[in-house]
Amino acid sequence: MSYKNISLTSKLPNVGTTIFTVMSALAAEKNAVNLGQGFPDFDCDPELVNAVTRAMQSGFNQYPPMAGVPALREVVASKISVLYAHDYSAMTEITITAGATQAILTAILAVVHAGDEVIVLEPCYDSYVPNIELAGGMPVRVPLTPGTFRPDFDRIAAALTPKTRAIIINSPHNPSGTVWTALEMQQLETLLTSTNVLLISDEVYEHMVFDGHSHQSAASYPGLAERAFVVSSFGKTFHVTGWKVGYVAAPAFLSHEFRKVHQFNVFTVNTPMQHALAHYMCNPAPYSTLSNFYQAKRDLFRAGLAQTRFKLLPCEGSYFQSVDTSEVSPLSEADFCKWLTTEVGVAAIPTSAFYGDGFDHHVIRFCFAKKNETLEKASTRLSTL
Ligand code: PMP
Ligand code: GLN
Repeated sequence: MSYKNISLTSKLPNVGTTIFTVMSALAAEKNAVNLGQGFPDFDCDPELVNAVTRAMQSGFNQYPPMAGVPALREVVASKISVLYAHDYSAMTEITITAGATQAILTAILAVVHAGDEVIVLEPCYDSYVPNIELAGGMPVRVPLTPGTFRPDFDRIAAALTPKTRAIIINSPHNPSGTVWTALEMQQLETLLTSTNVLLISDEVYEHMVFDGHSHQSAASYPGLAERAFVVSSFGKTFHVTGWKVGYVAAPAFLSHEFRKVHQFNVFTVNTPMQHALAHYMCNPAPYSTLSNFYQAKRDLFRAGLAQTRFKLLPCEGSYFQSVDTSEVSPLSEADFCKWLTTEVGVAAIPTSAFYGDGFDHHVIRFCFAKKNETLEKASTRLSTL
């Protein structure tokens, strides 16, 4: 690429505007109900906003310590200890990040050298592959089983080579809503034992797991925890996706390398939000009741779609409901989502956007992190299909 007489080789030649931005823009243009990009359309607890105001008024407005406000790291370490039975040191093993996106990029930049291979399980979140490429690594794409989106350990095992530096997993899964079972975590643990492969475990939807099941954190499996960056996002858990605050928990030897990159990447993350979160998280209720809160929304939305020709895929966790569109339309996923936004007035995300080769199996994703009235409005519009 060149501009006037300046030439430039793109570091990410295949990257365009993300599908989330594209679909949100189309939804706004067409005045559609936006069930595309994943974000709540309701506000967070006013107590959390008050806590930020109080933090700012109390003078917490300068740089915090590089790894994060100690009180927040303490409360995160204690939450992980209670829920997942693994004790991380708040001092040396928990780092507060600018959302999960920065946590994942920083982890990759910290450990992936040029030519290293990193396994991703497709469909996967859109930042992983460009992150690996920015580090000079080689993405190795292994499909989750088509139709069920469950991990296929034979294929993962076949993808491991002496060059494999890391594998990225995501449960609860965006886009499919699949939640890994204890057995699947144990299978991964067995597979990685006696390898040099690191794990990046994207657990941003950890507090949204339905039907009485529980989230299986990599932190709970010693053979995984010893090699894992466990990543989460306060944005998802507390309905504040725009705050961009998250964390990474990792053994000291990994956190040490992570922080070297972090300090020259963002250095620190905004102070008042960290103080507010530290205060707010002393009460576990907001995150311990989140699964029930979202399960009710899932059920409302599924009931609204029950009479349509969409085939509802299972949704075990996350705030995404996937549907098979093949009985509604022969259009490709991307064309169908554009048509649905424009003609029906409901925006969704094509699953093909989560595959490197655009694999299309007529499955689209709706986000149900919406007010009940929004879900009802969307269901009414979709009811004709
Ligand atoms: N991973 C997954 C699977 C996600 O869905 C998201 C949300 N966009 C992120 C990471 C990024 O989270 P954050 O907004 O905290 O950067
Ligand atoms: N994680 C959100 C989703 O999957 C989108 C975040 C973004 O727009 N980058 O919808």
